[in-house]
Amino acid sequence: MDASTNCWRGIILLGGPGSGKGTQAALLAQRLGIAHISTGDLFRQNIRMETPLGKLARTYMEKGELVPDEVTVGMVRERLKQPDCANGFILDGFPRTIAQADALNQVLADMRQALTAVLNLQVAPEVLIDRLSRRWTCKSCGAVFPEFSLPPRPGCKKDVCDGELYQRPDDRPETQRHRIEVYREQTAPLEAYYAERGMLIEIDGENSVERVHQLIVDAVGCEDGAAQGER
Ligand code: AMP
Repeated sequence: MDASTNCWRGIILLGGPGSGKGTQAALLAQRLGIAHISTGDLFRQNIRMETPLGKLARTYMEKGELVPDEVTVGMVRERLKQPDCANGFILDGFPRTIAQADALNQVLADMRQALTAVLNLQVAPEVLIDRLSRRWTCKSCGAVFPEFSLPPRPGCKKDVCDGELYQRPDDRPETQRHRIEVYREQTAPLEAYYAERGMLIEIDGENSVERVHQLIVDAVGCEDGAAQGER
């Protein structure tokens, strides 16, 4: 399926660490029936499986640094070839540098596809820090919980999962500020990059999860996969 097909979507979700990208990407992907691709989750999976890629990524992630562009782009290029991307994808945490954005354009051109929207979740730095210091992540399924929504006993309760909850090493205070700094220096320039190309849509990310989802739905003019199928 190529970009000319009506329902195909190629969406990027930009936003600082803790801005809600993962949560919103998962909701939107489910609503549109497209693939949710989180480069952070892909790296964490590789770390769990102790692959060479995971071993390499860990050395950067623990310090709150970016994994080198060539490695990250190669991983995304392979992921975009998977069958679940046939209706499109939402990229969560990629691109994070101008070089990655240029490489993505090339990868999509090779696939005869193009981006359809870039959403920027705006959240103030002090709110990001507050959220990061209070979030817990499931070791098995990667679900994220703010502290106030933790289940009564320590075990993930999203869907059927019973995984152990932990605080990501890179969510700890010493690494947080650095990640936000890295975002400001290396990733925030992508806002201008996509604005110049007329693709950037600003979303106020300081609302509730439900409200942000609705803002995104309104912005991308979503129709549910099922509804599209009926047309
Ligand atoms: P995230 O789960 O998106 O917050 O990503 C966690 C960490 O994975 C980041 O702090 C980086 O170390 C690494 N990472 C994720 N996505 C990328 C990317 N596009 N480029 C480089 N490093 C990345």
